[in-house]
Amino acid sequence: MAKDVTQKLSYGVYAVTTWRDGEPKGCIANCAIQVTAEPATFAVSIHHDNYTNECIKKSGKFAVSVLAVDSDPKIIGALGFKSGRDRDKFDGVEWKVCGKLPVIADGCGYLACDVIDTMETPTHTVFLGRLVSSELFGDREQMTYDYYHKVVKGSSPKNAPTYNAEAAAEAQTKPTRKFKCTVCGYVYDGDELPDDYQCPICGVGKDLFEEI
Ligand code: FE
Repeated sequence: MAKDVTQKLSYGVYAVTTWRDGEPKGCIANCAIQVTAEPATFAVSIHHDNYTNECIKKSGKFAVSVLAVDSDPKIIGALGFKSGRDRDKFDGVEWKVCGKLPVIADGCGYLACDVIDTMETPTHTVFLGRLVSSELFGDREQMTYDYYHKVVKGSSPKNAPTYNAEAAAEAQTKPTRKFKCTVCGYVYDGDELPDDYQCPICGVGKDLFEEI
């Protein structure tokens, strides 16, 4: 597979949510697409191992919350790096009920869908949903998968030229070490990690960072 071609596809950063026994459940997904306009139909792809997969199959409904570039990165840590089987992933995450489903409040908006079909792949279920409700929460810029990896997670410098040329030039004059979170991949730039440091995305401590 030509990776350089697949990287030309666009992906976002979404929270896909539903209910399970009255509790909000959900995960982070990068694949959510509009399949048809009329009727408005959307598809999301959720890994078989993900608890959200079986919750959507049971409820027959899902919501897609579109995260914004300035959404709290802890939303991704809370929903993306832990399992909702045995914990409340929404503890500490601001959420509200929209379109009869739990959605992320700190985002661009949401799409609530009824599942109308599914397709199994070897690793993921593709859920096809008919839109039943949607709302835009103000005028916010959506987070792309590329932005998340380059800026939020820090796999490129936070001050990469494409985002802030002046600060990048300044940063290049200051040699720093880099420490990577072994859980979520977040990269910390600095000479030393403070003892009480916590990953801003997944919340783990200094001991789970390694120097790169
Ligand atoms: Fe982390």
